[in-house]
Amino acid sequence: MNDRTNLYQILEANDRFISEQAYKSYQTDKFPDKRIVILTCMDTRLVELLERAMGISQGQAKIIRVAGAQVHHPFGSVMHSILIAVHMLEADEVIVVGHHDCGMQSVGKEIFVDRMMQRGISEHTIRTMEHAGIELDRWLRKFDNIYDSVRSTVSIVKNHPFLEEAGIPVHGLVIDPQTGKLELVVDGYVD
Ligand SMILES: [Zn+2]
Repeated sequence: MNDRTNLYQILEANDRFISEQAYKSYQTDKFPDKRIVILTCMDTRLVELLERAMGISQGQAKIIRVAGAQVHHPFGSVMHSILIAVHMLEADEVIVVGHHDCGMQSVGKEIFVDRMMQRGISEHTIRTMEHAGIELDRWLRKFDNIYDSVRSTVSIVKNHPFLEEAGIPVHGLVIDPQTGKLELVVDGYVD
């Protein structure tokens, strides 16, 4: 457990931000100037690195960050955000950006359950959820290879019934979380 001061530090930083009017250099509207939506991982190493490494600045892209940069369910919240970006907010290209050394590569059910129990979640609760139909194996499935994971998510997005006929290019990239180097995995203009 941390010392429970993060929230107050954030609020103090916010007071300074507002009083210095630092927000003025960030002002833009809700539509992405480059008309792209990026799906990437929530990894802390990518917090600013990803945008800098891709030459993206404030106001240019919609960015969705979820563990593993994956779409698991075609009608889950990640896909929902992509569809909103395309149909409501003028994005007309999707870029999936996975990264090397992703934490989701090794997180499976066993280790996740173990960590939950260390945090005080009881075995009873875990069993109850499993009996209620929550398939932890499926929900927490890990991936072995980042390239396959990116290709799989690109395919789910590209072939989504609410996107396919719109002809939206869906690209796949892998980023190095140390250097920001990008590798092209799927070129949505040609694939
Ligand atoms: Zn990751």
